[in-house]
Amino acid sequence: MTEHATKDYECDLLLHTCCGPCLEWPARLLLQEKQNLLIYYINPNIQPAVENKRRLENLKILTHKLGLELIADPICQPEIWKNWDDSVEARCRMCYRRRLQATADKAVELGIPAFSTTLLVSPWQDRDAIVEIGNRIARPAGLLFVDRDFRSGYREGQRLAKEDGLYRQRYCGCLPSLELSDFKEQIKSDQAALAE
Ligand code: SF4
Repeated sequence: MTEHATKDYECDLLLHTCCGPCLEWPARLLLQEKQNLLIYYINPNIQPAVENKRRLENLKILTHKLGLELIADPICQPEIWKNWDDSVEARCRMCYRRRLQATADKAVELGIPAFSTTLLVSPWQDRDAIVEIGNRIARPAGLLFVDRDFRSGYREGQRLAKEDGLYRQRYCGCLPSLELSDFKEQIKSDQAALAE
């Protein structure tokens, strides 16, 4: 269920946001440029549900602090990523496509002409794939995909997240990426405690 009341949004850019820490730098940059932003959380890849909720709750802390409006579709779809047996590259492309398509659909629904994503701040994500997929989704929808390279601000964004006391996760989001994390035992233990 979408977490926002029915209302009109007067903004230029719908910014798909994966988590609070990754919003820190792009938000500050775009606000400094006087861009009229709306933040959109939709990350069905982030699992388990307790982790998805935790990242959204931390994002809310930051949007509140920065005075940004947030709409959220806090869905979690572990079944899609859980038993993925193709390559990591193909899995991540599918993951980008789902989130960017959902963001484009929301932009059309709200009459917002452009969209982008905070995934573009992370040096750990495949920027070329994100830009290619974003543009491919944007064109037929009559939208602009804003392919800003935010990566130079990644470290500063992480520093700001620490300063703001935000939760900084140590795996990308899907269950396969959790299994690959060096910290998986600690993460699973923390998640079990949160789920109680
Ligand atoms: S590693 Fe990250 S980008 Fe790739 S499928 Fe998992 S959650 Fe998505």
